[in-house]
Amino acid sequence: MRADLPRFDPMRSAEHLRASFRFDEVVKLRESYAVLDEATIVAILEQAAAFATDTLEPLNRAMDAHGVELRGGRVHTAPGHREAWKAFVANGWPSIDHEADYGGQQLPLPLCLAVQEIFDRACPAFGMLPVPQRSAARLIAAFAAGDIKEALLPALAAGSLGATICISEAGAGSDVMQMRTRARETPDGWRISGEKCWISFGDHDLTDDIVHCVLARSDDGSATRPEISLFVVDTRVAGPDGVEVLRIEEKLGLHGSPTCTLAFDETPATLIGERGRGLAQMFVMITQMRLAVSAMGLGIACSASDVALSYARERRQGGKPGNPQPIVAHADVRRQLLELTARTELLRGLMLNIANLAELAAHVADAAERERCGALVQWFLPIAKTFGADCAFANASGAIQVLGGAGYTAEWPVEQALRDARVLSVFEGTSGIQAIDLLHRRVIRDDAGLQAFLAQARADGGETPLARCLDLLEAAASGLKAASSADQDAGATAFLELAMLASAGWVAARFMAAAGNDQASARMRGAGRYWLDRIEARAALYHAEALQGATPLVHFEAFA
Ligand SMILES: Cc1cc2nc3c(=O)[nH]c(=O)nc-3n(C[C@H](O)[C@H](O)[C@H](O)COP(=O)(O)OP(=O)(O)OC[C@H]3O[C@@H](n4cnc5c(N)ncnc54)[C@H](O)[C@@H]3O)c2cc1C
Repeated sequence: MRADLPRFDPMRSAEHLRASFRFDEVVKLRESYAVLDEATIVAILEQAAAFATDTLEPLNRAMDAHGVELRGGRVHTAPGHREAWKAFVANGWPSIDHEADYGGQQLPLPLCLAVQEIFDRACPAFGMLPVPQRSAARLIAAFAAGDIKEALLPALAAGSLGATICISEAGAGSDVMQMRTRARETPDGWRISGEKCWISFGDHDLTDDIVHCVLARSDDGSATRPEISLFVVDTRVAGPDGVEVLRIEEKLGLHGSPTCTLAFDETPATLIGERGRGLAQMFVMITQMRLAVSAMGLGIACSASDVALSYARERRQGGKPGNPQPIVAHADVRRQLLELTARTELLRGLMLNIANLAELAAHVADAAERERCGALVQWFLPIAKTFGADCAFANASGAIQVLGGAGYTAEWPVEQALRDARVLSVFEGTSGIQAIDLLHRRVIRDDAGLQAFLAQARADGGETPLARCLDLLEAAASGLKAASSADQDAGATAFLELAMLASAGWVAARFMAAAGNDQASARMRGAGRYWLDRIEARAALYHAEALQGATPLVHFEAFA
């Protein structure tokens, strides 16, 4: 037995979309977006909420309980997963983000991410297949030759072809340059040999075939710096024995999502884009996947805060003897609920703002504006990925606290949420790597995104307490620029915390202007005020920690 997740009210997302940064411009960017009046947006979100409640939420339990199996060299998904996938495909959900030229509905990214939130709120493991499908499509659209696009993109949009991102290897996780998988050019084309591990949906029974987006060394092995190129392995070309599943992992969470070790042995592959530019090109896919982690984190954070809120309204403890009050009346429970719900609202606002910026970076007419929006997306990417991961885990843990003993049991969905959420700060680049990436690539090497953010947030935040937080962010950035590399690396995580605080602060300041009398707008204003009330003290702490650098690490000597 397990208690239900309250059904998602689509007006929450609709109101957020309407209030999000420059959404009014985004819907005018392309012809296919022009149909998106308010009623159409709400109708799409309503359909998503219905599918989530009727199909995905019951599946979530089955996927968690049964997991996946490797039998006869093939991965078998949990009972009900295939039927749910068929319904997902029949309803056209895989195609919403894909280009119209290749059979997609070509809806704007913010709406697609709002839909993803609703699905992931009900069943995060289910989303582990559609995300690489649509991310692979963007990669292939950006770099593949015309015939490859024709062969792959319509099948991806139709949901009949699975997709993976194959980067990790046993000896190459964060450090991609250690990879050993080799690509060899032959008179009959490229052949790939090697093992990739932890590949999500590396095999399954939901689609007949899969396209694997693989990074491999295309040099002869003697180069000190490996030449890494991007390939696709299409199982329709490679044949049933072209990619072998060596094992699947037993995991803490996301039991319904197979995590596979794949072996390639002289497997036919197609080079995509420019030889030696594989990693740089792969960032098109990685960018989409990191934004999707943010949406997945939001889905989990939202389910946890919604369960906590509805439980707290029902559960009676404390108050006068014989007449216990609902626990939501207690100040300490309200404090916890406010933290959970405010985080969820701010994460949703941030994710949608970034999605709008990504649309503007791709399609706005003015080249300088495209560049500015692109720099903002680059600045926000590690922030959105990490904030999504942190909110998911913190909210799942916080919801267990609100539910007390019940929250720790399998009767309520929050214990699964905690297990599912844990990996978000590990895959798609750990939080430590995101922090280093933010500081080194997006502050020290080129701070155009940071400068654009500071200007925009100062303009939107005015005299609110956000102004002081932005000053501290700027000061931390210049202090770290001048610091030793040891101090930079040691201060990177605190700097990322400060950047997340400031980015959510920007969203909070914009929320304060949400004018509607509806409940969604009231929630936004409440979340905004709560965040800004505490922003200065928290910013001062992270600023100090960022600039402390490696000093506190001397204490590690005692353990080294
Ligand atoms: C459920 C799941 C699904 C996955 N799906 C996929 C997939 O579909 N495709 C795919 O390619 N991979 C996938 N992965 C792999 C995932 O991307 C890696 O686990 C992740 O990139 C981290 O690599 P690692 O596990 O080798 O950790 P390591 O790189 O060994 O890192 C261990 C720790 O050291 C830290 N660290 C490492 N290097 C540095 C450094 N230079 N500076 C500071 N700190 C550092 C890290 O932050 C981390 O805390 C998946 C993993 C899981 C668990």
